[in-house]
Amino acid sequence: MSTNIEWTDQTENIIRAKEGGWWCHKKSEGCANCYAEKLNKNSFFGGNKQPYSGEPPELVLDTEAIRKWGFQRKPKKHFVSSMTDVFGEWVPRFWQHEMLDGMFVAPNQIFQILTKRPEIMLSSMDEWLSCHGLDKLPLNIWSGTSIENRRTLEERSQFLAQIPALIRFWSVEPLLEDLGDITQYLNDVQLVIIGGESGPNSRPCHIEWINSIVQQCQSAKTPVFVKQLGANVYLNQQPFKTKHAKGGELAEFPQQIQIREFPNFTCD
Ligand code: SF4
Repeated sequence: MSTNIEWTDQTENIIRAKEGGWWCHKKSEGCANCYAEKLNKNSFFGGNKQPYSGEPPELVLDTEAIRKWGFQRKPKKHFVSSMTDVFGEWVPRFWQHEMLDGMFVAPNQIFQILTKRPEIMLSSMDEWLSCHGLDKLPLNIWSGTSIENRRTLEERSQFLAQIPALIRFWSVEPLLEDLGDITQYLNDVQLVIIGGESGPNSRPCHIEWINSIVQQCQSAKTPVFVKQLGANVYLNQQPFKTKHAKGGELAEFPQQIQIREFPNFTCD
């Protein structure tokens, strides 16, 4: 599906509820205003109205969508499962491995997998690698974790760092506080994406927090991609208004954070 997420070309939701819609389980502070849950609560958008809590509905894996990856000619970046977490505790491990198999046979496509559960991603990928006699993930599989505050930075970055991927990335969105000194972590990550929160009840994001991450990434020569400022932005403790509802228009950013880089890598 085409998308307006700036760091990818399309989203692919390979895990869905059998009767329609999607499901996930909230994990941390970053999930409080989950946009996927909001869409799922609205039948107009194809949702099943079930909250992202409690027990999962019956889920299905879209094996046909996975099979088609291997036949795509035009190289694209695929954000796999924007509506759930493919490394959720409820997702059968063989589904995760079927997904990785499909990516493995589509080497000209880039797959961006993002999780709030990198400890499960690590153990599942280790199993998959060992089944295939591999010691690292193929170039086209990017492994990422979400980071929203200092707690999740410490907790999740250590698991992500152990994943034998050539491209490991952070999605620092929604950025909920100043992350402070991140230099010690940047050797283990090849891309940092940053975004403030958008949508109703957005929590504040200060441009100084974004700028601090950008400056540290630039010093460490780690590619950094400022996706959006968010809908509740501050600069020098004053509200910073943007015309774009999500603060996602690059030209509206202060100049020092007008930056959207990717790792120097292609699967063409
Ligand atoms: S992990 Fe992602 S999709 Fe799942 S509840 Fe949290 S924000 Fe929503």
